[in-house]
Amino acid sequence: MLAKVEYLNPGGSVKDRIALRMVEAAERSGALKPGGTIVEPTSGNTGVGLALVAQRKGYKCVFICPDKVSQDKRDVLKAYGAEVVVCPTAVAPDHPDAYYKTSDRLVREIEGAWKPDQYSNPEGPASHYETTGPEIWADTDGRVTHFVTGVGTGGTITGTGRYLKEQGAVQVIGADPEGSVYSGGSGRPYLVEGVGEDFWPTAYDPSVPDRIVPVSDAASFEMTRRLAREEGLLVGGSCGMAVVAALEVARELGPDDVVVVLLPDGGRGYLSKIFNDDWMSSYGFLDAAGQTTVGDVLR
Ligand code: PMP
Repeated sequence: MLAKVEYLNPGGSVKDRIALRMVEAAERSGALKPGGTIVEPTSGNTGVGLALVAQRKGYKCVFICPDKVSQDKRDVLKAYGAEVVVCPTAVAPDHPDAYYKTSDRLVREIEGAWKPDQYSNPEGPASHYETTGPEIWADTDGRVTHFVTGVGTGGTITGTGRYLKEQGAVQVIGADPEGSVYSGGSGRPYLVEGVGEDFWPTAYDPSVPDRIVPVSDAASFEMTRRLAREEGLLVGGSCGMAVVAALEVARELGPDDVVVVLLPDGGRGYLSKIFNDDWMSSYGFLDAAGQTTVGDVLR
């Protein structure tokens, strides 16, 4: 099993890839004009990528985050020079204060605003088709047999998966938080950030994945902590989630199979949550002895 470690990108996540490509396409189409403002609902990583590109190219940024996103992540966006608007998670998607509604309103109100809309922008999957997919194929010398990744907007799985399937018989597996629509849930809340949805984004092509594996918050967080402790990989919660799914897939495979699991971001944005014992205990993810509660399900 091989991990593609995306925290090594300049902005610290997989989202640098889509940010650059979406902005450059908007410049070419005229949707984003000199001095314009990028307005996007983002859980943080897309915001960092966009903020980096924007500051190099002279654009302003306003990002809309759900309130479950950690303070650390919001502060990072501000550090890069962006403005951050925080919205409640626990409201219906059509409520005026909801994440997407708020961003639509800001796009109308701000002059020169452009919304990349990573959920519907075809440049997202296209960036993975042109970079992530070919990198995995080249780095494994074409030996990859299974690709596992979390599904948020669906851009990573759609673009990377499509490329890999065109090269050879690669199985594409999505990892999804239990409760999210991709694995048949109703969209009920879960705590892993950046993945899962309560609607079907058009950046996601459901014909690409061969299988979707639902993963609980508890299992995701336990694996995230183990990756830091046992593998020296300080990564985010969606990485732990993807690794749980990858191990489930790998259990059925033989010695010639090569599983590549994509790890979207680093763990520093989660120090006050997944890596904090009090936070973990408050959700019942640690027992009284300070041990994670999933136990050897994952071993
Ligand atoms: N993990 C994290 C931490 C993310 O920010 C994202 C992007 N939303 C993903 C996974 C999923 O990637 P994608 O949007 O390409 O499906």
